Amino acid sequence: MERRRLVIIGSGPASYTAAIYAARANLEPLVFEGFFSGPAGGQLMTTTEVENYPGFPEGITGPDLMEKFRSQALRFGTTILTEDVTKVECGKRPFLIHGGSTQVEAEAVIIATGATAQRLDVPGTRDGELWQKGVSACAVCDGAIPIFRNKPLFVVGGGDTAVEEALFLTKYGSKVYIIHRRGELRASKIMSERATSHPKIEMLWNHVLVRVEGKQLVESVTVQDVHSKQETTHPAGGLFFAIGHRPNVGFLEGQIELMEHDYLRVIPGSTRTNIEGIFAAGDVQDPIYRQAVSAAGSGCMAALDAERWLAALEYH
Ligand SMILES: Cc1cc2nc3c(=O)[nH]c(=O)nc-3n(C[C@H](O)[C@H](O)[C@H](O)COP(=O)(O)OP(=O)(O)OC[C@H]3O[C@@H](n4cnc5c(N)ncnc54)[C@H](O)[C@@H]3O)c2cc1C
Repeated sequence: MERRRLVIIGSGPASYTAAIYAARANLEPLVFEGFFSGPAGGQLMTTTEVENYPGFPEGITGPDLMEKFRSQALRFGTTILTEDVTKVECGKRPFLIHGGSTQVEAEAVIIATGATAQRLDVPGTRDGELWQKGVSACAVCDGAIPIFRNKPLFVVGGGDTAVEEALFLTKYGSKVYIIHRRGELRASKIMSERATSHPKIEMLWNHVLVRVEGKQLVESVTVQDVHSKQETTHPAGGLFFAIGHRPNVGFLEGQIELMEHDYLRVIPGSTRTNIEGIFAAGDVQDPIYRQAVSAAGSGCMAALDAERWLAALEYH
């Protein structure tokens, strides 16, 4: 069976950045970039313009940006397999990685499998409908786009993330509505107060999203009162899902310590998990920032942590 010093699992900014650093450090990394688990290249493959990644003053499309990351990883000698990892045997070293059709042993592993933004399956919001045409799952990523300027914007959710997204969107929208199916927010008290006292935020308590309509872009949002069942259609320029993210950790079968909401736990200030030799980078360990540049930064950290850990192992 093939044995590698470093295997990297996942394929977004974190994974490819880890691969660039590891390849340049002669670790000859092997990347499982996924196949069924999501588009190889990660979440940015599903978006159009990325305007906040440094180095691209004119902006760049998500797929073009990821192609550049991938080419740079290949240039320094990374091996990339377009396969999912279905299982990692973390109990003893070398770790045994089960890919879709390849098995490999690894002395160190970086997990960079990202997180999936949750969306509701509501008419008008799906891929091929108005998704990415005014429907988004990331206000920080998309809020500044001109289509949202001075328009009524809607946020679906009731936790801290929904409030954060709504507050962020008040900079751009004429008004921001939070659609929440209950009569009170799940968000912390301080965040709830900020939302409910904000002059630009209006709460649509006890309402659910029914449909989103528009020809080219979002033009209206229809909500339903959960008690009276009455539907109301509002003019709208955008709708943002803020109902959480699901870290892609199922294949680890609970062998690595998790935090709340199933994010991988890393030792603060590092990318080390509770298992020596296994590191985590990007959105899979980041419930807070979840941006391409922060994912890339932690990919760099993971490669350096892995390199130092391997060097110490080989020295002793
Ligand atoms: C629609 C949208 C727009 C966004 N726009 C921006 C933006 O403009 N600017 C910005 O900074 N951020 C943006 N983000 C956030 C950004 O995409 C993420 O923060 C970033 O991609 C996280 O990178 P990551 O490396 O952690 O992994 P991800 O991008 O989450 O990718 C991980 C990938 O790993 C692969 N994978 C998963 N499981 C397995 C497995 N078992 N085996 C092998 N491979 C696996 C899958 O292909 C998965 O997609 C956006 C997100 C979305 C959803």
